[in-house]
Amino acid sequence: MSVIALDVGGTHIKGAVVDGGELVEGAQWSTRAERGPDAVLAAVLRCADELVTYAVRRGSTPQAAGIVVPGLVDEARGTAVLAANLGWRDTPVRRLAAEHLGLPIAFGHDVRAGGLAEGRLGAGRGWPDFAFVPVGTGIAAALTIGGRPFAGSRGFAGELGHLVVRPGGDRCACGNRGCLETVASASAIARRYAEASGRTGASAREVAAGAESGDPLARRIWTEAIEALADGLAALTVLLDLDRVVLGGGLAQAGDPFLTPLRGALVERLAFRPAPTLVAAVLGARAGCLGAALLAQDLLDGVGTPEAAATPTQIRPVRGEELDPAHPQGDPCPS
Ligand SMILES: [Zn+2]
Repeated sequence: MSVIALDVGGTHIKGAVVDGGELVEGAQWSTRAERGPDAVLAAVLRCADELVTYAVRRGSTPQAAGIVVPGLVDEARGTAVLAANLGWRDTPVRRLAAEHLGLPIAFGHDVRAGGLAEGRLGAGRGWPDFAFVPVGTGIAAALTIGGRPFAGSRGFAGELGHLVVRPGGDRCACGNRGCLETVASASAIARRYAEASGRTGASAREVAAGAESGDPLARRIWTEAIEALADGLAALTVLLDLDRVVLGGGLAQAGDPFLTPLRGALVERLAFRPAPTLVAAVLGARAGCLGAALLAQDLLDGVGTPEAAATPTQIRPVRGEELDPAHPQGDPCPS
């Protein structure tokens, strides 16, 4: 039994075919969001067609598809409420994809899907109360409470990047000031270092390396980011009593230079209670796609029913470290 999975991002559309619980095909295409919302949607459907073709060529016809997208997502209605970097607003993705593919569609939020994958297959496995926190262009948290993903009343839970940690601080894309992601996202670290130094082009990883090697300006920007992130994680911990925080994104993959000072700053802020363990995510850029595949398999398995919930779907992500082993080149599907 195979399913196809799509993780639609502002830069790339990642795709996978999962057959018999094993990731057998990975692909990646450029989103080219500048072409506008309708063209992006058409591209997503063409990518889905390609994945179906891959699956059929391997001898299995997909039974369902999982599609995950960024932004504000109404999982119940199957609608992308607002995905600014795709130009989508109240876009009924699930219905359109179901009509196009003739398959049942599981539709979800990219970060929550990543959290689902880390929880079943990755660094959150065996931890019923944990948060998956990717730190990239923005910052978000996928919350798992009592072993179940928690989306909130409107599906807006976990917008950790928009927790105000520096009142009156820098303007955020959300309209507020001093949100966590204006200080601690990878793009904020790069931007703040460029503003302070007058030198553009240094990435967050390079700022971290500069801090390590004694550049005082890099050290200041880096320390401010770590402290702001610790403020955010302390708020999460105090509210939810988490066991574990799984950090995603390139900074977390750098390991100890990121995790060690963050752990220290978090412990300082949680004087009255133990801090959750902080670990790096293990699924990398594949997390969202694997999560989309899990959602599709769960849809087929009827997870949510008591019998099925006892044995949730597993996938063995056996192919390679990243998601583009087979069809990485160019822009084959969005023409
Ligand atoms: Zn904000």
